Amino acid sequence: MDIVLFGIQGSGKGTQGKRIAEKYDMSIFETGAELRKLSKEHSPLGLKVKAIINAGYLVPVEVVMEIIENFLKNVKSDELVLFDGIPRSDEQMEQFNSLMARSGRAFKGLLINIPKEMAMDRLLSRQICEGCKEVFPASYDGEVCEKCGGKLVKRADDNEDSILTRLSAFVNETMPVIKKYKTNNQMIDIDGTGSIDNVTELVFAELNKIFA
Ligand code: AMP
Repeated sequence: MDIVLFGIQGSGKGTQGKRIAEKYDMSIFETGAELRKLSKEHSPLGLKVKAIINAGYLVPVEVVMEIIENFLKNVKSDELVLFDGIPRSDEQMEQFNSLMARSGRAFKGLLINIPKEMAMDRLLSRQICEGCKEVFPASYDGEVCEKCGGKLVKRADDNEDSILTRLSAFVNETMPVIKKYKTNNQMIDIDGTGSIDNVTELVFAELNKIFA
């Protein structure tokens, strides 16, 4: 059973995703990270994707689906995958559901739930490592990345305008997707407002029911 991780930007889903993947031996497909890689390419597509990401809009569905299809071609049928950042709209959900069905992969959604105001505060104050891309919340008091010693910087799209656009995209486009999976009994809903360890505990308690 694959897991599809949902959460408003700043919910901590990237951090929890890494912990889940490690504990249950899953490969991670992180849509935003794949698109950021593409945006570094000096090609017309790379430049277009970079502009869209920095403004906080969703990248066209065909670009996203092509990346995910290529990823799935190299995944073995007995390998577990944690999807992070897909599907984010009804259109993506339709295509994602049929791609998963064609690939013979069952999945369950997992939502890390926090209020929009908390998301805004966290995004405005977080920093990332320029080298390994580890994310550090405002409460981190080190001057450099504790993992690789890299410089801490703000993510290019963590400015107020882009954050507002991304949060609206989540509410308007991704929330309907979450509601549909909930209606189909395909979604686990986790309270994401506690500490990182506390949220991990809640997540593992639910996932143990599936993977134990
Ligand atoms: P994230 O790292 O998940 O916050 O994603 C960063 C940016 O990548 C988003 O603001 C979008 O511009 C783009 N992106 C990530 N996932 C998707 C997706 N499923 N569909 C379209 N654009 C996406």
